[in-house]
Amino acid sequence: MGISAKETTGKDRLLRALQDVEGDIEWGVPLATMTSLQVGGPADVLVAPKDIANVARILLGARTQHVPVVVLGGTNVVVRDKGIRGIVIQLKHLTATRKDAAECLYAEAGVRMPVLMQYAVRHQLSGMEWAAGIPGTVGGGVAMNAGTRLGEMKDALQSVDFVNSRGRRMRIEASALTFSYRKTVLPKGIVVGAWFQLKAAAREQIEQVTKSYLQYRKESQPLTLPNAGSVFKNPTGQSAGKLVESLGLKGLRVGDAEISTKHANFIVNQGHATASDVLALIRKVRGLVAKKLGIHLELELKILGER
Ligand SMILES: Cc1cc2nc3c(=O)[nH]c(=O)nc-3n(C[C@H](O)[C@H](O)[C@H](O)COP(=O)(O)OP(=O)(O)OC[C@H]3O[C@@H](n4cnc5c(N)ncnc54)[C@H](O)[C@@H]3O)c2cc1C
Repeated sequence: MGISAKETTGKDRLLRALQDVEGDIEWGVPLATMTSLQVGGPADVLVAPKDIANVARILLGARTQHVPVVVLGGTNVVVRDKGIRGIVIQLKHLTATRKDAAECLYAEAGVRMPVLMQYAVRHQLSGMEWAAGIPGTVGGGVAMNAGTRLGEMKDALQSVDFVNSRGRRMRIEASALTFSYRKTVLPKGIVVGAWFQLKAAAREQIEQVTKSYLQYRKESQPLTLPNAGSVFKNPTGQSAGKLVESLGLKGLRVGDAEISTKHANFIVNQGHATASDVLALIRKVRGLVAKKLGIHLELELKILGER
């Protein structure tokens, strides 16, 4: 999420916004270390709140002090080279999971999707298999309506625990949210947990689906190099990767940012790519696809940070 600043951010205002917050607070952390594409400049301040109550404190403090807040899992974003002004929140301490009613799972928003998948498998619950291989957090998955050709977040989601920009905690039923392709319309605030309605199934049956999907990913995606997942959304009825490939753009580079030779809808970092390299490559590809195919590719990646 992004809460826009009304004024520029000074360190004193950030300090005031964070004065009662419990958690890890680090200044000037390079966000390349926190993003799967391994690009991006520093956060003014990176905060990992101790618990949900402290997420609420940050949001309230930030609102009072007029400082911007961004929450980052880091696997579907490009953080610009100048970094992010204001507070960057990382939910690494929100990692509780529990099985509630017979077929209902709860996960805090900082739980990694692969961990949630394993938890569902252990409890012999089916309904999350579509998420095999999605590396982000539960919160990011909800915000993005993450998905694959097997299904998407909205299919399993029952409700979302949320803290709004005034620091108020609430539960939102999934039926009250609007989902579309890689997008969930949420109020301003942060997802802090999610409830999933699943179905009992044999462990072997669930694992069969997840294993074959993981194998498919291994064969078709550049998983050994830093990347941020799909760069472009698939235009209706078409594959963005196939469109880019059809123009012979696999292997196209700007600096160390490269259109993967394995899957043309992935940009990989071949070593020392900067966010500027990645963004220039995106512009180049979009321009060529528009000019030669008359198709406007929409970004799936989120671009964050100071221009
Ligand atoms: C190898 C690879 C494969 C991938 N495959 C897929 C795939 O098959 N399908 C798919 O959908 N995605 C895929 N992705 C992309 C990515 O993993 C998902 O979009 C994931 O859901 C993003 O989660 P994240 O926690 O990393 O969020 P980020 O990428 O950090 O954030 C995405 C957006 O959500 C917001 N956000 C994050 N957390 C919260 C929160 N708690 N509350 C409110 N807003 C929040 C951020 O501010 C940002 O705007 C892949 C990525 C990689 C690297």
